[in-house]
Amino acid sequence: MNDYDIAIIGAGPAGLTAALYAGRSKIRAVVIESKAPGGQLLNTELIEDYPGLKSILGGDLAAVMLAQAEHFGAEMVYSPVNRIRVEDDGMKVVETDAGEYRAPAVIVTAGGNPRKLDVPGEEEFAGRGVSYCAVCDGAFFEGLELAVIGGGDAAVEEAMFLTRYASKVTLIHRREHFRAQPILIEEARAHPKIEILVNRVVESIEGNHKVSHVHLRDTVDGQTSRLDVGGVFIFVGFIPNTGLIDHHVDHDAGGYYRTDPMTMMTNVPGIFAAGDVRAQLTRQITTAVGDATTATIAASKWVEERARGNEGSALQVLEAASADGGWVA
Ligand code: NAP
Repeated sequence: MNDYDIAIIGAGPAGLTAALYAGRSKIRAVVIESKAPGGQLLNTELIEDYPGLKSILGGDLAAVMLAQAEHFGAEMVYSPVNRIRVEDDGMKVVETDAGEYRAPAVIVTAGGNPRKLDVPGEEEFAGRGVSYCAVCDGAFFEGLELAVIGGGDAAVEEAMFLTRYASKVTLIHRREHFRAQPILIEEARAHPKIEILVNRVVESIEGNHKVSHVHLRDTVDGQTSRLDVGGVFIFVGFIPNTGLIDHHVDHDAGGYYRTDPMTMMTNVPGIFAAGDVRAQLTRQITTAVGDATTATIAASKWVEERARGNEGSALQVLEAASADGGWVA
């Protein structure tokens, strides 16, 4: 058994930020990642919305974040996490293929994955016309016609966002009725650059080196059609990696952990969440690193308080830390 103060689950931007802050504070922390470090940075070609870096490749930002965390002593373990159990004494045990890691505090930064359409061409053209992030990639599609797939808030909001760049956006939904809020649909319908196609499913995404068109099927009459587009943005939901903890953690209908906004602690004492696993408005690199900063400082305070026998709720820890002289790390 390997003992730490904090176990960080996942090495995307949130996990690597948590590792950096833990390292600089000389906290005994371990980062456990099942794949390559970087999380969704690795699925993003170019990043132009991370302050201070005018433009950087996703893979390069991941490498810099990892190097910076390791420079300050981050201990990395590359192994799938199979389960996180909460023991009777409140200790958390992270079970991995590489052994068990024990810590009073866990910061879950395991991210998630955009739900896929699972159609031919989707994987082949990922990063070459197929995208799951309008804010990240929209600017690369200046002047092009785009397809947006989905019928929820995200699809409709992102379709409107993409009109800043695209000459036209076709919003394609598989049903007649939208899951998105009616006011968003009204705005989209009124938008001069948006066309809405309902009762259509994407059968395939086609192109040569880049996306050039999609094949659609009408779910009512079965007719197929071709739509010429320079890009396909897919917003059919997101799946947070929140299924690992062997304990009830409060979450919303989408499976996202609900956290205390001051500390990022969940309802389970000592379990914190940051980044895409957390219920919040946006899923950006900037918000993930912000969450992780808060979570790590709060977790370290919480571990200190626990060592003094004061294992309380997020609010109690916040009060204790304030009494200690505040939050500034
Ligand atoms: P969502 O609400 O789960 O909607 C997913 C949409 O994708 C649904 O319309 C669904 O169609 C469609 N879909 C799912 N699988 C599909 C498939 N295989 N092929 C075609 N279409 C498919 O997801 P979301 O839009 O990402 O939103 C997630 C959560 O974040 C929601 O709670 C949402 O309210 C919230 N959110 C809120 C805001 C906001 O308030 N401003 C913005 C973004 C997201 P069906 O309707 O037919 O199932």
